[in-house]
Amino acid sequence: MIRYSARSLFANALSGHKNWPEQWPDAQPKSAYDVIIVGAGGHGLGAAYYLASKYGITNVAVIEKGWLGGGNTGRNTTIIRSNYLYDESARLYDHAVDLWDGLSQELNYNVMFSKRGVLMLAHNVHDVQSFQRHIHANRLNGVDNKWMTPEECKAFCPPLDISSAKRYPVMGGALQQRAGVARHDSVAWGYARAAAKLGVDIIQNCAVTGVRRGADGAVEGVETEKGFIGAKKIGVSAAGNSSIIMNMAGLDFPLESYPLQALVSEPVKPIFPCVVMSNSVHAYISQSDKGELVIGAGTDQYVSYSQRGALHIVEHTLAAICEIFPIFKRMRMLRSWGGVVDVTPDRSCILGRTPVPGLYVNCGWGTGGFKATPGAADLLAYTIAKDEPHLINAPFTLERFTTGRLIDEAAAAAVAH
Ligand SMILES: Cc1cc2nc3c(=O)[nH]c(=O)nc-3n(C[C@H](O)[C@H](O)[C@H](O)COP(=O)(O)OP(=O)(O)OC[C@H]3O[C@@H](n4cnc5c(N)ncnc54)[C@H](O)[C@@H]3O)c2cc1C
Repeated sequence: MIRYSARSLFANALSGHKNWPEQWPDAQPKSAYDVIIVGAGGHGLGAAYYLASKYGITNVAVIEKGWLGGGNTGRNTTIIRSNYLYDESARLYDHAVDLWDGLSQELNYNVMFSKRGVLMLAHNVHDVQSFQRHIHANRLNGVDNKWMTPEECKAFCPPLDISSAKRYPVMGGALQQRAGVARHDSVAWGYARAAAKLGVDIIQNCAVTGVRRGADGAVEGVETEKGFIGAKKIGVSAAGNSSIIMNMAGLDFPLESYPLQALVSEPVKPIFPCVVMSNSVHAYISQSDKGELVIGAGTDQYVSYSQRGALHIVEHTLAAICEIFPIFKRMRMLRSWGGVVDVTPDRSCILGRTPVPGLYVNCGWGTGGFKATPGAADLLAYTIAKDEPHLINAPFTLERFTTGRLIDEAAAAAVAH
């Protein structure tokens, strides 16, 4: 596989960019692998890459029912941050942010990680108190987060309207400067290419339809649209479809799947230098490198597996954006889409072993798992390779829903994008 460099770019420019080799082969399944990963999103592809690169486990297949990166990885609004309240979450997400830092170099693929800062707006006294609590907790955990006055917010994000005669005035904001966005497709493609280079088979258009277990209860492999594929270890990273796959193995998971939508505007010249989130008015916004305003909000209220959502959510989201940024009132929206997110009762992930020997799970990321991609992938690979969780993901067990030891980011933030 070719190494991307200024030299290869120049050489290919001479032939009109017609001779670039394929980025990864379209693999067909072998009869068995050491490890099967279900789901070729960023998390699954990343886990396969780290299994190969860190633990030398290269006899791995990633099995995907559609095309790689076509799930939530290719549908999200790409916000990356780690300013979560609880110690466990801060450690988990900050581990991911650390990995985002060197990811383009590691994968030899530009994932366009841009640390442009994420500003979370406070619109009432409760927001102010809650964000300041977050800031103190984050600082104790070594996570950067600082309080900004309304004027500082305006200086940081000029399109912001901070006039006080509003229903939802800006009373300040919490800024994580190290946070930002990345290019979602590149993350999937970069991991796919790097994993395939190390020998991983990426098998697309091949839905997993069953999980086969032996007499001892341990996994033996998966039934798929292309036949049975054996493996002693199976990692599931299937986002909104996770509970369906776990059901195939006889497990009930505390997950609800909801549509979550996003939309983009027509492209405009650079105007929006950062990411802004407003939990109270409930919308968030950034600008893509193509110039589109990238806008998102909350999930639909009804559970569903359809990758599209209801119109009134889009209307509400745009009303929220116009409240905070009246300057955008006359912009036209270009397109909207939806993904299916897997939500746990405490809005934190489940990442580790399951009661079925040989079956590992990475799910429950809900509306906020893109930011975790390298971290979750790294920790899933560790857990599969060592058959035990890493210290960072050890608290994110399935058992916490019976022991009551929740990591309740839902109650902490009321939103978890
Ligand atoms: C509109 C929207 C906006 C979002 N915004 C943000 C954000 O700003 N920041 C953030 O951090 N997170 C965000 N998220 C959440 C984030 O996208 C996800 O948490 C994350 O991408 C999950 O990655 P993944 O690799 O686990 O899942 P996915 O990318 O969904 O990959 C799972 C794969 O499993 C495959 N699969 C499912 N069932 C089967 C089967 N039976 N057999 C084989 N394959 C199967 C699917 O086809 C899919 O490709 C957003 C999500 C959406 C939908």
